[in-house]
Parts: sequence; structure tokens; C-alpha cells
Amino acid sequence: MRRTPRRIEFFQGTLDSTSEIQDARIFDTTLRDGEQTPRTSFSYEDKREIAALLDEMGTHVIEAGFPVNSDAEFEAVRDIAAASTTDVCGLARVVEQDIEAALDSGVDMVHTFVSTSDVQLEDSMHATREQAKQRAIESVERVKEAGVECMFSPMDATRTDEEFLLEVVEATSQAGADWINIPDTTGVATPTRFGKMVAKVVDATVEGTHVDVHTHDDFGLAAANALAGFEAGASQAQVSVNGIGERAGNAAYEEVVMALRSLYDVDTGIDTTKITELSRLVEERSDVPTPGNKPVVGDNAFSHESGIHAAGVIENTDTFEPGVMTPEMVGAERELVLGKHTGNHSVRQRLEEVGYEPTEDEVREVTRRVKDFGAEKQRVTMDELEKFAREVGVEQVEEVRA
Ligand code: MN
Repeated sequence: MRRTPRRIEFFQGTLDSTSEIQDARIFDTTLRDGEQTPRTSFSYEDKREIAALLDEMGTHVIEAGFPVNSDAEFEAVRDIAAASTTDVCGLARVVEQDIEAALDSGVDMVHTFVSTSDVQLEDSMHATREQAKQRAIESVERVKEAGVECMFSPMDATRTDEEFLLEVVEATSQAGADWINIPDTTGVATPTRFGKMVAKVVDATVEGTHVDVHTHDDFGLAAANALAGFEAGASQAQVSVNGIGERAGNAAYEEVVMALRSLYDVDTGIDTTKITELSRLVEERSDVPTPGNKPVVGDNAFSHESGIHAAGVIENTDTFEPGVMTPEMVGAERELVLGKHTGNHSVRQRLEEVGYEPTEDEVREVTRRVKDFGAEKQRVTMDELEKFAREVGVEQVEEVRA
């Protein structure tokens, strides 16, 4: 399906040069892989609140947890499954006890997985390739017998012998798996190689099986690899809010959703205006602070300090922002930060916002003080700015309440 081009003529070149993505669903694993972040655990209430917001935003699947793990985990998954309008998924090894616990929790989808790489088969699973494949087939069959949607993952797919990987994909697809997920468990994929692998996996599945990808950020390529997966024919990607997860984490929800929306012109149906709220909630509950320079959700994502950039943005925000992604789209606010690199335009704008009417000379004098103060690594707040304005004797015309 060809999508209607948007009317941002300036950026049409960018949008036109991208390849088409047909279908893009979002599977959120914040509550499962995200919770596997070293030193992170969510309480029952944390899980319920995060799931409720993911659901409200229109996330396609919420992986709520690993039901066999504990009674508390089982209850959280069960209650999220009962409360959500979207599909809820529970994780299970290819072990009877896990599968039954997941089925008992009442989830819409059971995600079962087994290692397929030799290194994990030998030194983690302690099983042969043939045993892994058989257990995978039996597990998929059991979930389908119960009438529940089934996702199967050949864990460590990107370090698995390709011939064996495709053999397992074909067998589990034939056994009735609705989804085959391709996990880049240790984050070693690159976009081009991963795309080629996903295309082969798509070819190896029978009709009715869709392909999903799960990428990790060990080399900072998780979002790029997820998008390469979509380009190669995957119809769903697994993401976590703020990219939290094992080691360096997963593909970030906010990055994948916004790249699809803004760079590929694909509407996932997700309410992106709640992305900032979602990010703050997960930051607080996971105790993983979001770096200022984090794409989309970091404090600096829509902030400008340098004189040239700020002056451009004051005239037209498209000058030094992507244009195809605005703070309004993600529920954030643009900020002109005052500091060492500030120029006259920012200072004038910020002074006028609070009711001052400075002359050219006064703006220059206040700017000098801002730069000197900022250069000493001091934070230039609006209070500081107003103090400088009073020192310089700038006339305040009206009291404006922010
Ligand atoms: Mn993972």
C-alpha cells in the first residue's frame, strides 16, 4: 500500500528516499526484558501502571512477564491480562511447567523460546540441536492446542548456524506458530546482515506465520536493526521504554515508534503524544535515569543553547530540529537553555517572555553576563536571568505569569 505523502515539502526528499514498510506493530517488553535490567525490579503496582499506560496508548502487545517465575509474577501477569484491552503476552521456556503457568495466567499470547546457537545449547541449555528443535515443536503444539496465540523464539538467532535456524523456523511455523521472533540476543547484528537474515526467515515460514524481531543495543544498533527487520518483511518489533533491558538494553520504544512515524511515514496507531509521560513513568519506576542526550525523551532532545541554533529555531523551528518530529508530537516541550553558548536572540526571547522590554545594548550586556556565568559551569536559571536584567536596569513593562 502506498501511503499519502505528507505536506512537509521541505523534507519530502527524506521521506521519498526511504523504502516502504508495509506493516509495523509494536510489542513492548518493558515489563519482561526491561525488568531484567541489572538492579531493576518492578512492584505489582509499577507493572499495573506501566501496562495501563501502554494499553491506553495503543501498544499492540504487552509482554507482562514470566508467569512461572513466582506467585507474585503470575498474579501481575494474570491481572494485566484481565485488565488490558490490547493483547498481553507471557514468556515460557520450552518446558511444560512454564507453558502451563503461562496458559493458566490467561494471557492472549504465549511466547516460548529455546536457544539454537551451539554456544548456548552446549554451555547454557545442555541440549542437542535435535532436542531443542523437538521441544520447540511440542511447546508450540501445546499452546495452539489450548487455543492461544503462540510466538516462538530461536534464542541467539544471530549466532545460530543459518541452516539450522531456518530448519527450526520452518518446523515451528508448520507446527502452528503465529509468530516467529528473531532475537539478536547479544546485540551482534548489523542492519544489512540482519535484514538479509529476516528476509530468509520470512521465506521459511508458512502462510499465517508472521515475523517479529527482538534487538539489543550492545553496539548502539538496536533501533537500526529493528527498522532493518521491518524493511526486510518483519511485521512487528519488540521494544522497551527508554531502551531498558539486559546489559545495554533493547531497542527503545520511543525511537522505533518515532522513526516509523517521522522517517518512514508509517502510522503505528500509537498515541505518540504520551511518549514523554511513558518515559518518565518508566524512568521513575525502573530507577534507570534517562541520559540528557537520549533520543526523543532525553532532556536535551528538544533543547537549544548555541546562539546560531537558538536564533534559527526562534525564527523557524525546522531550521535546527528534524522538522518531521516536533516536541508536540511526543508530548515534550522545546527549551532555549541559557549558558556559555547563548546568543542575543535567546536572551531577548526569554526576557520578553517574562515581561521585559530590553534595548539592544541591554540585551548584549545581559548576554555577556549569561555567558560568563555559564562558562563557570553554573546553571543559568530564569531567576539568574532576571537578576542580570535588574542589575543592567532593563525596564519591566508588565508582570507576566508563566
Ligand atoms: Mn532480550
